[in-house]
Amino acid sequence: MSKPALGYVGAAHDRAAERRGDSEWLAARLADPLSRVIDFHGDRPAIAVEGPGTPTVAWSRGGAVAAPVEGVPVVFVGLGDDGNALFARLASETAEASPGAGEAKLIDLRSLAMQGLLPAADLGLVAQARTLLAWHQRHRFCANCGAATVAVDGGYRRHCASCGLDHFPRTDPVAIIVVKDGERLLLGRQRQFAPGVYSALAGFMEPGETIEDCARREVFEEAGIRVGKVTYHASQPWPFPANLMIGLLGEALNSDIVVDQVELEDARWFTRDEALAMLADTHPDGLKVPTPMAIAHHLLRAALGVD
Ligand SMILES: [Zn+2]
Repeated sequence: MSKPALGYVGAAHDRAAERRGDSEWLAARLADPLSRVIDFHGDRPAIAVEGPGTPTVAWSRGGAVAAPVEGVPVVFVGLGDDGNALFARLASETAEASPGAGEAKLIDLRSLAMQGLLPAADLGLVAQARTLLAWHQRHRFCANCGAATVAVDGGYRRHCASCGLDHFPRTDPVAIIVVKDGERLLLGRQRQFAPGVYSALAGFMEPGETIEDCARREVFEEAGIRVGKVTYHASQPWPFPANLMIGLLGEALNSDIVVDQVELEDARWFTRDEALAMLADTHPDGLKVPTPMAIAHHLLRAALGVD
């Protein structure tokens, strides 16, 4: 099996974090017609789908770029290959609006990744932009005093002039783990999964918890399995809207599963042959695993040694 691509991880642009504090430079870049801007409508970027070749981001030219939604700034994404600045903005709060340009279509990030519609570099870039814009949409007011805050540093900080606090974009870590018991793998399914899909167990990290402890707690809560050794495999930004999936492999200390029926519909041990069949989509009962855009798929491959 060739190694398929994980979604949202291929960003190749320069984030140029050192330029974010220079408001004059940022204003000049926004006024520069060589700069490029991605328009989002709700959570969907405008994608150029017409013409030959792979669809690409439907870039607008810089120049007189305004922020149409109150409180949500035009955010600085970074510098492209050609050294020109890349920005993103929320053109409208919902995805019902027309993108304007005749050839552009609004496509959600999940479909873009699942269907491989964008080059990996563009997919990473729209994930960054979407997470940042979603944060501004939901954090227009100070969490400390309730006053309206102002975006600064190209959109990487919001400042409250009333109480002086600064607020920064959040990233919510999630531990996701495939647990092995010898050759068997523990996978579970949530009710909202597509029919027949089983995946790695996952949960949000809590304050004061290590990544390993979070994974052990989640697996015990959801499936009654105690996990011993935990090793890190890879991570994935998951822009729905601001998660970081931290992919792990673990070793089980017991084997009797007790499913938490609130969290999961089912959890069970799968033999190596079954798991290989699920990866290849040849399982006799039609059972499947998540597609290669999701880190669970790659954890499973690593646990099976097919990477
Ligand atoms: Zn405040």
